[in-house]
Amino acid sequence: MWSFATDPEFQKEIDWIDNFTREKIEPLDFILGSPWDITDPEFVRLVRPLQAEVKARGLWGCHLGPELGGKGYGQVKLALMNEQFGRARFGPIVFGAQAPDTGNSEILAHYGTAEQKKLYLEPLLANEIVSCFSITEPHGGADPLVFKTSAKQEGNGWVINGEKWFASNARYATFYIMMAVTDPDAAPYRRMSMFIVPADTPGIEIVRNYGVAGEVGETHAHVRWTNVRVPPENMLGERGDAFIVAQTRLSGGRMHHAMRTLALATRAFEMMCERAVSRTTKGELLAKKQMVQEKIADSWIELRQFRLLILETAWLADQSKDWKAVRKNVSAVKAIMPKILNDISSRALHLHGSLGLSDDMPFVDWLINSFHVGLADGPTEVHKVTVAKEILKTVKPCTTLFPDYGNAKRRERARAQYL
Ligand SMILES: Cc1cc2nc3c(=O)[nH]c(=O)nc-3n(C[C@H](O)[C@H](O)[C@H](O)COP(=O)(O)OP(=O)(O)OC[C@H]3O[C@@H](n4cnc5c(N)ncnc54)[C@H](O)[C@@H]3O)c2cc1C
Repeated sequence: MWSFATDPEFQKEIDWIDNFTREKIEPLDFILGSPWDITDPEFVRLVRPLQAEVKARGLWGCHLGPELGGKGYGQVKLALMNEQFGRARFGPIVFGAQAPDTGNSEILAHYGTAEQKKLYLEPLLANEIVSCFSITEPHGGADPLVFKTSAKQEGNGWVINGEKWFASNARYATFYIMMAVTDPDAAPYRRMSMFIVPADTPGIEIVRNYGVAGEVGETHAHVRWTNVRVPPENMLGERGDAFIVAQTRLSGGRMHHAMRTLALATRAFEMMCERAVSRTTKGELLAKKQMVQEKIADSWIELRQFRLLILETAWLADQSKDWKAVRKNVSAVKAIMPKILNDISSRALHLHGSLGLSDDMPFVDWLINSFHVGLADGPTEVHKVTVAKEILKTVKPCTTLFPDYGNAKRRERARAQYL
C-alpha cells in the first residue's frame, strides 16, 4: 500500500513544531553562541524554558526506540520533525535531538552498563551534559583502517595513546565516545574497539580548536591522548567491535542531518521564490525570465526528489528495524545531501545578486555547510562507492560474449514465443 500522507494527529504536532521554530527558536540563532555551550548563562536563560515547552508537549528527545527507553517514534516521524526544527541552528538542542548526543545516547543505551547509563546516558538525554564522538585522526579520516590511536591492556584496564582530529564539541563535552586500535594484527574491521572516556581523565589534551567558516566559535578539536587510563568496563561492545558499535549511531545521524539539510535548502528555496516575484530588471520581474524560472523549477524538483528519497529510506528503516538492511539507501541520502544544499543555496545566492553574497544573507554559510555535510560522517565519494557496491552485489554477470538483452536475441525469443 502506498501513502504519502502524514497521520492527521501527528500533523498537528508538526504544525506546532513549525510555528514554534519560526517564532521562538530562529531568533536565538542571532543572539547565542554555540548550541553545545550549555553552561553559558544566556543559554540557560533562553534555551531552558523552550526545552521545557518541548518536554511539556511530549516532543523531547524522540530518537530512542521503546526498547531503549524512548518514545519509539520511528524514522519517518523523526524525519518530519527534523525537517521543521532543522531550519534553526538551535532547533535540534531545543528538541533534545542534537548531534552527536543523539547517536552517542543510542550507543550508550545499547552497550552501556547500568552505572554508565546512570552516570552519562540519563544526564545526556536530559541535556544536562553534552558529549563528543571522536574517531577521525589527523592523517586520514575517510579511511578508518589507517587509524593508529591505540588502547593497550595494562593491569586491569586500558591505556590510550594517539591523536584525534575534528572532534566536534570536545571543548564542551563531559565524555568522549572514541575508537582505538586494540588488536593491530586482527582482520581489518576487527582491529578497533569503542570506549567511553570521561573528558576530565588525565592525559587528554585539546591541542587546538578549529573553527569552520559560517559556524559560531571554534568547536572542532585536535585532541592528543597521552597514557589515558580507562577501566575495562569502559569498553562499549565487545573487543574488536568498534565498527559494529559505530554503525549503531551513524545511519540515524546521517538521516537526521539530511532532514535538517532539507530544511535549510527549503529556506533557501523560499527566499529565492520571494526574490523572483519581488525584484524587477529590464522592466519585468525576475520571475518572468525563463532562466530564472528554470532555477526555480530545478530547485523544486531537486527538493522533492531529495525529500522523497529521505522519507522512503526512513520508512524502509522503520519496516526493517535494521540499519544494515538500508545501508545503500542511507548512503544514497548522504551522497546527494551536499549537492542539494550546494545547488539550491548557489541559485538563491545568485538570484539575490550582490545582496546574496553579503553577510546579510545566509547563503554563503549554507554553501559552506554543504561542504560540511559532504565531509562529516564520511565523504560523498565513499558513500557513492557503498551505493554502487550494494547495487552490484546481487547483479549476475553475463556469461556470453554479447548480452542477453540485445535486441537481436530478444527479437529471436519474441518470434519463438508468438510466431
Ligand atoms: C564540520 C565537521 C565536523 C566533523 N566532526 C567530526 C566529529 O565530531 N568526530 C569525528 O571523528 N570526525 C569529525 N569530522 C571529520 C570527518 O569525519 C572527516 O572530515 C571525514 O571522514 C573525511 O576525512 P578527512 O577530513 O581526513 O579527509 P580525507 O580522508 O583526507 O579525504 C579528503 C578527500 O579525499 C577524497 N576521498 C577520500 N576517500 C575517497 C575515496 N574512497 N574515493 C574517492 N575519493 C576519496 C574525498 O574528496 C575527500 O573529501 C568532522 C568533519 C567536519 C568537516
